[in-house]
Amino acid sequence: MHSDPVAALDIGGTKIAGALVDDRGRVLLRAQRPTRAREDGETVMGAVAEVLTELTRSPQWSDVRTLGIGSAGPVDAIRGSVSPVNVPGWRDFPLVDRVRDIVGGLTVELIGDGVAIAAAEHWQGAARGHDNALCMVVSTGVGGGLVLNGKLHPGPTGNSGHIGHISVDLDGDLCPCGGRGCVERIASGPNIARRALDSGWEPGADGDASAAGVAASARAGDPLALASFDRAARALAAGIAATATLVEVDIVVIGGGVAKSGEVLLDPLRRHLKEYATLSFVQDLTVAAAQMGTDAGLVGAAAAVFGSAVTKAPAGAA
Ligand SMILES: [Zn+2]
Repeated sequence: MHSDPVAALDIGGTKIAGALVDDRGRVLLRAQRPTRAREDGETVMGAVAEVLTELTRSPQWSDVRTLGIGSAGPVDAIRGSVSPVNVPGWRDFPLVDRVRDIVGGLTVELIGDGVAIAAAEHWQGAARGHDNALCMVVSTGVGGGLVLNGKLHPGPTGNSGHIGHISVDLDGDLCPCGGRGCVERIASGPNIARRALDSGWEPGADGDASAAGVAASARAGDPLALASFDRAARALAAGIAATATLVEVDIVVIGGGVAKSGEVLLDPLRRHLKEYATLSFVQDLTVAAAQMGTDAGLVGAAAAVFGSAVTKAPAGAA
């Protein structure tokens, strides 16, 4: 079976990547620009336009009918707008309309970046063959997406599976999202580093005070570093257990920069899951490391397009 390649955009706080992806998940062509997230919204849009223009110059572009966008959230797939927390110049930014202005009559599908990661891991990665999966990114933030009954579950606005902002600590610290005690407020890389420093942990000889530096100390047995990772792992375990109990996933896939610390995170996570995932139907939950690399967002945005019966009308209908 063969179908035409699709275009994919992966929009994050650091980089804007674009690609043409074939129906086996291979990246045929890619383009990338820095996001320049601190600048105004039009500057950020300028980078998107440059990426798309580069793609449209490809001879393969004439075969492209659909474009999938995975964006840092929150996104609003109904209105076609995005308000990424880490791109302050974009609030209710009409990304889908602006992209259509550049690519003409293509069908455009928008999902959150966590949903895109879930689509990629389900299609090509660690969640392949699992009909019910939670896929997560633990990095500067904590995001996620769900596969339910064998299909990606973006939810009405494209944000379903946003596990970073469910509360696991009723009286916990205020989160930038407005909530309290969110998973992300405890388990993200910056929060792991902050908590370690607050407890008196000191970076090693390389001076790395990030979560990666804390992970290196934890591997060397530093109790303060181990304690900060343990706390993060508990928050993740509580959030994962709640999700599994609600919707019965049988695997959780974890990727992202913090997850690269490997067993420093995954070992306490598996241990704490036994405390929180206690009912019979969630006791056998598998924790697996993500398999998709840096292309996960692009491949996932493409997967969402390939996987959905795309019926949304192109621009001009309104
Ligand atoms: Zn939050």
